[in-house]
Amino acid sequence: MNDRVHRNVHRLRIWHQQIDRDAGRRARALGPAWRCKRGCSACCRDGLRIFSVEALRICADFGEQLASWKPHPPGKCAMLDDAGACRIYSARPYVCRTQGLPLSWIDSGPSGTVEWRDICPINEPGLNLEALPAEVLWQIGPAEGKLAVIERCWDPLMERLGLRALFDPRLRKRLLSGAEMKEGDGEREASQ
Ligand code: SF4
Repeated sequence: MNDRVHRNVHRLRIWHQQIDRDAGRRARALGPAWRCKRGCSACCRDGLRIFSVEALRICADFGEQLASWKPHPPGKCAMLDDAGACRIYSARPYVCRTQGLPLSWIDSGPSGTVEWRDICPINEPGLNLEALPAEVLWQIGPAEGKLAVIERCWDPLMERLGLRALFDPRLRKRLLSGAEMKEGDGEREASQ
């Protein structure tokens, strides 16, 4: 791993750890309503596209395994195994680290601001989503902003790559070489 790759992967790993701590605190606060567990792949949809710095971490941590694994068939995330478990769990992207939590976001319109809330239907039974205190909710926005800063340091073009594309050895090699992304790379790689 060259310096540029190492520096950016390290920065992302530290940030992922922070996300895990924050998400874990919220998940524990949900008590028995939190039903996310190994083998549930309800939110592991196909075609997920992630920032290239998160793709880089996956290649850095699981490059050897990706060289021998077969992607999960289309229809579900390519990173799933036959038992419905994530094969890159420790390096999974941000969005997968907060799935299942009660989400909250603010919309601004002509009549002012409105807070929206949502949660995976598997975790909803037994919860009163409307009544949940703010500290249990995952606020959409701040973390995405921090991830964008980390991505911009690695790739000013902020290209997104499909998870399925990481089974292409040429893409893995290119990412791990530290070469800068070029405009349109995300589209080309995602179509492979
Ligand atoms: S990367 Fe892992 S957790 Fe995320 S959608 Fe794919 S299989 Fe699921």
